[in-house]
Amino acid sequence: MLDTAQEVRPFFLTPQHIRLEDTFILFFEGQIVCDGLLTTWSIETINPEVIIDAQLLRIPQESGSDLVAAYLDSSPLGALPSAELRSLRSMLLSDSKEFFMGAGVANQLEEWLTGHKFCGSCGGLTQPHPNERALVCKPCERHYYPRINPCVIVLVVREDKMLLAKSSRHNADFYSCLAGFMEVGESPEDTVKREVFEEVGVHVGKIEYLSSQSWPFPSQLMLGFIAQYESGDINPEPSEIADAQWFGADDLPNIPSARISVAGKLISHFLNT
Ligand SMILES: [Zn+2]
Repeated sequence: MLDTAQEVRPFFLTPQHIRLEDTFILFFEGQIVCDGLLTTWSIETINPEVIIDAQLLRIPQESGSDLVAAYLDSSPLGALPSAELRSLRSMLLSDSKEFFMGAGVANQLEEWLTGHKFCGSCGGLTQPHPNERALVCKPCERHYYPRINPCVIVLVVREDKMLLAKSSRHNADFYSCLAGFMEVGESPEDTVKREVFEEVGVHVGKIEYLSSQSWPFPSQLMLGFIAQYESGDINPEPSEIADAQWFGADDLPNIPSARISVAGKLISHFLNT
């Protein structure tokens, strides 16, 4: 069952491609199979029966090793009695950034796999590409790659205050930066100006890029900006924003962690400069 060959491995693996040093992350019905603090598995800790029929996708890591995402068709909880299922979102604050990023990629790839079983052009079944991370429709030769959706996330600042907003979705209990998807034909700066005006009715002037982040809910590329307030009074768009206010360092509400989110990083950058 174990593969010891040194040639480049395909992205879509069969059980014959598995190597002793592989680290596995198991997904079942969109959730991650964990065992207490254990969020990834080795070939020794896993019961091989669990992954024998799974779709296996290789995710190269910075370290040079491979994370193997195993998407299971049937529940692993019988074969792994102490395991439990956890959502990726529940791991946002509790686990290491490296693990979260790997799990985030695995989660995005599952979205892509389930959304591209059939060709969008001819309706034919797609198949794994032999060596690229792509799904291919043989009859019409279309290739489907994992899709990334670019978004901007922006901290609007005015002297020593920053504009933070509470989303009207998900019963949010924290305040964060404004964010929105880029539209066709826009530059990121265009999106910043449009989104800020649409969401809170404020015009911004100078816009500076600070940082970016892949965000796996479900597959965004977040481009983080700081924008200087120019004019207008805060007037939240109620379908998106429950509340928006100017906050200073002395009266901060609940905000996202800078450890895991670019929103937290933008806020912490502003507070520390
Ligand atoms: Zn097709």
